[in-house]
Amino acid sequence: MRCDFCGRSQNEVELLIPGMNGYICNECAERASELVKEYLGKNHDKYLNDIKLSDVPKPQQIKEYLDQYVIGQEGAKKYLSVAVYNHYKRLSQDKDDVDIEKSNIIIVGPTGTGKTLLAKTIAKLLKVPFAIVDATVLTEAGYVGEDIESLLVRLLAACDYNVAEAERGIVFIDEIDKIARKSDNPSITRDVSGEGVQQGLLKLLEGSVVNVPPQGGRKHPEQKMIPVDTKNILFICGGAFEGIERKIAMRLNTHVVGYGAGNHVSKADQEKLLHYVAPQDLRSYGLIPEIIGRLPVVTNLEPLDRDALRRILVEPKNAIVRQYEKLMMMDGIKFSVTDEALDYVVDKAVEYKLGARGLRSIFETIMMDAMYSYPSTQKKKFELTLEYAKEQLEKSNFAIIASSM
Ligand code: ADP
Repeated sequence: MRCDFCGRSQNEVELLIPGMNGYICNECAERASELVKEYLGKNHDKYLNDIKLSDVPKPQQIKEYLDQYVIGQEGAKKYLSVAVYNHYKRLSQDKDDVDIEKSNIIIVGPTGTGKTLLAKTIAKLLKVPFAIVDATVLTEAGYVGEDIESLLVRLLAACDYNVAEAERGIVFIDEIDKIARKSDNPSITRDVSGEGVQQGLLKLLEGSVVNVPPQGGRKHPEQKMIPVDTKNILFICGGAFEGIERKIAMRLNTHVVGYGAGNHVSKADQEKLLHYVAPQDLRSYGLIPEIIGRLPVVTNLEPLDRDALRRILVEPKNAIVRQYEKLMMMDGIKFSVTDEALDYVVDKAVEYKLGARGLRSIFETIMMDAMYSYPSTQKKKFELTLEYAKEQLEKSNFAIIASSM
């Protein structure tokens, strides 16, 4: 018995796999598998056609899924659902038909209101590779920091370096506002983390073939680059754009000219200025017009009010309260929490200006003692009351820690 590919005999190899009329050894099988991967990697179309639109969740279904995890943020959820669905449409379109252009999205909203949560949740539903990257580490090529191409390393890693798969993936770029131009006068100092990076990013957004260093980070001359075509990659950008309300207000006011202009911005509206965010505001904030042109969909996240914070504690599928119920149940203890205690946690998150992120740390601080001692007792019930919550939080150093968060 010999391998029909390399001719080696059974004792020269580890394994001979029999076929209809002969054998293949383990080494030749491995080599063949590599060749197949290489071939498919180059042959994009073969891969791209296998998304059937009928198998893909519809925008309403995508949003319903997001609803289970993300409270509020209706606008952003809708925009995301449509964008993702349209992304699938582009991937399954006929080549010679009307060319559907990609609509990259930019989400503007305060930190801790669910940008990353939205991105992560949608990733669970996707049939294409997905990566979350942070724009703050990026600098112009040649400076300390990471080159723009490193954004694609994560995406490649998310699909085992299958280039064809990566080329139809989705990248969420967080903190895009951090690469805004710092000043209008570029001549004062070199703005290495601003405009130069935006120019680099533009190349990715527009769609071009970029050479990605497989290990990320800096390019080493000896490293073999992986060419990746970004034409079909969907980019979702997010940023807090702190202070952008002022730019929005300014723009809205300049439009109010003449007598008793009807579209006057009322006081209540001012708090919801983010609703009116438009590409021009991103431009005044320091994004270059070419980038804005490549991010045609602008949507916003709302600041989370008390009501939203309270809902976040109990409603999402993996809400904190549900997690504690489960944790305690594993020790046979029934966990419950009173309305007043929930209100108290929300109050503290608001007081310390910690937003939704604070809910978890406050809750954990309050529950620490109980989580420590209850598993060793015979008790079968734990009710978190206002008094208990207050006592626990007050005796912890939370107030001090929170003020430095
Ligand atoms: P950012 O907008 O800064 O990316 P995150 O998405 O990381 O904020 O939110 C921080 C945490 O706060 C999340 O892990 C989540 O638990 C909670 N959270 C924030 N916004 C929401 C929301 N709208 N619905 C449910 N949970 C939320």
